Amino acid sequence: MKILYYHYVRPAPDGLPHFRYLHLDDFKVQLDMLDKDYGFVKKRDFLEAFEQGGSLPEGVVLTFDDGFKDHVHYVLPELKRRGIWGFFFISTGLYAGEKKLLNVHRVHNLLGRHGGVVMLDALRRQLTPEVMAHEHVEEFQRETYTHQDNDQATNDFKRIINYFIAPGNQGEILDRLMMDFGDEVQLFDAFYMSADEIHALQDEGMIVGNHSVTHPVFSNLSVDDQRVEIQDSFAFLDKAVGGLEVKAFGYPFGHKHTYTEETMSLLRETGCRMAFTTGNRDVVRRDIEEAPLELPRYDCNLFPHGRASYGPYRPGEF
Ligand SMILES: [Zn+2]
Repeated sequence: MKILYYHYVRPAPDGLPHFRYLHLDDFKVQLDMLDKDYGFVKKRDFLEAFEQGGSLPEGVVLTFDDGFKDHVHYVLPELKRRGIWGFFFISTGLYAGEKKLLNVHRVHNLLGRHGGVVMLDALRRQLTPEVMAHEHVEEFQRETYTHQDNDQATNDFKRIINYFIAPGNQGEILDRLMMDFGDEVQLFDAFYMSADEIHALQDEGMIVGNHSVTHPVFSNLSVDDQRVEIQDSFAFLDKAVGGLEVKAFGYPFGHKHTYTEETMSLLRETGCRMAFTTGNRDVVRRDIEEAPLELPRYDCNLFPHGRASYGPYRPGEF
């Protein structure tokens, strides 16, 4: 069985010439190909595999991360048309307070609009020694960030945000850079699905899954903070859809080093039945029996027609 993960799926995005996304047309062609080459696993067969022994259903399972509007506008109609289903992993903190994009998505939007060279320059103007992570100041000063092409500058922009700026200051710097977008609330509403749309997903036969509250790197959090990230998001989603069909979790970022044994214990404690990582290999029977909280998924980029076309986003990185 192959489980694939997707992020942005949309037609050409307005006003974001450098945005990296999977074009809707490519997505459709990829679904055709997956159907022809492997077929799709039925939801009932997938869920039964966790309850009963026996052989694992062969075929593909689709998953979509981060609760983008893309997924209700473009993905859902396409899945319905084909009579197939998918998992949709949602970070619930988005629905709790002020309408600000997650930092990871602010980076994608800023780079998508202006490209790496312009954004790197804008970022450099915001940098003062006070906002930098102390232990990296010297290293930062040794590096030079000029005269680059967009791809190089994009990588440097992300590296500075994620590595050289102290974690507590990232939001503030991005706040300032995002002002250029005008109304972030408007962008927010166009970018993420609404709570009503989450409800509709389950009504349409999709599985709504938990993607934490704030999309943190779990391995950086205390056990108590990890517990809150897991429990609060399950509680929110359970209420939002009127009872979750199954408790499923998608690790933010998904790599092995981004979660811990404690994370998995906490998931087990809340009755979570399955959790998804990256890993880029098939799921075998043993995974479901012995490690249902570490189910590997493939990046859709690894299959024909799944390549994100242009912009800042590369799966698996911030
Ligand atoms: Zn995510």
